Amino acid sequence: MAETIHSGMLILGSGPAGLTAAIYGARAGLSPVVIQGIEAGGQLMTTTDVENYPGFRDVIQGPWLMEEMQAQAEHVGARMVFDMIASVDFSQRPFRLIGDGGTIYTGNTVVIATGAQARWLGLESETRLRGQGVSACATCDGFFYRGKKVAVIGGGNTAVEEALYLTNHSQDVTLIHRRDSVRAEKILQNRLFAHPHIKVLWNKTVDHFIGGDGNSGLVGLDLRDTVTGEISRLDADGAFVAIGHAPATSLFRGQLALDSDGYLVVEPGTSRTAIPGVFACGDVTDKHYRQAVTAAGMGCMAALDAERYLAQARFDAAVAAE
Ligand code: NAP
Repeated sequence: MAETIHSGMLILGSGPAGLTAAIYGARAGLSPVVIQGIEAGGQLMTTTDVENYPGFRDVIQGPWLMEEMQAQAEHVGARMVFDMIASVDFSQRPFRLIGDGGTIYTGNTVVIATGAQARWLGLESETRLRGQGVSACATCDGFFYRGKKVAVIGGGNTAVEEALYLTNHSQDVTLIHRRDSVRAEKILQNRLFAHPHIKVLWNKTVDHFIGGDGNSGLVGLDLRDTVTGEISRLDADGAFVAIGHAPATSLFRGQLALDSDGYLVVEPGTSRTAIPGVFACGDVTDKHYRQAVTAAGMGCMAALDAERYLAQARFDAAVAAE
């Protein structure tokens, strides 16, 4: 017989959003159960130096930060479970989730914090140099390239915003795009083309990221012209891959509203989805900020929204019983 685990607050995902929801939920007495998923700890587990999470004067490591967050959540009473959720049913109360090993999870509330993943080009050299010159987040890592040469790959809003952001640190920013026009909004395009420190290389794809001696750090990129096939080399100390993100929402398709990019839709300024009692927070619902600290803040909002929802439900039940 399958095991059943019940909680006042089921949390899907264990990045900064899920673990912050767990800390607040536990302290509110909701006995949260965090279902950690395949990438426990989320995107920070594959990040090295973190310098922009408040509270630490020295550089900290992403995996260490997540270990601390998890320990804090457990310390205040949250329970961690390793499982992959195979299906969710938000049509019945309590909500019902089934793990791929058959475990049944029921929750009076559900907080979805399944995150998003940066899309990568899929090159071997990209994987090898990730965190050593190749990054998917200029806001996180741009600072490390102060006064150096950097490249951004992509032609959407994110790529253009990242290129503009990088001019805070570098006077030599190159945007590399596979076509001859970008899809970013006009206002961003205007800023991009007017910027004296950004040049754009059109019709180019990355063939190879070139590591330095002993493969430490990046020294350049081999580019292929999509029209002529010609190979050229660009010197760069840092490369930012900005070709989009994939929010982890396939599980909720058909039950919750997704926007055109697949992100969960919440009532603006809250974590509330269209189903009362189901909340979403962090990168799974945010394509604009995508920071550990914003995800953590949204996790806090989700726990407070869940607590208020349960308090209201208790009040309504008491009134109905009178
Ligand atoms: P996106 O709009 O999907 O753009 C991805 C870019 O990467 C495209 O230019 C695409 O080229 C390129 N690309 C994709 N795969 C590639 C590959 N294998 N090799 C080379 N280039 C590749 O992604 P995004 O910029 O992250 O934006 C996602 C969503 O968030 C969008 O709706 C965007 O508007 C929104 N967003 C909004 C803001 C804002 O409002 N400030 C900020 C960031 C993001 P092609 O153009 O050739 O397809």
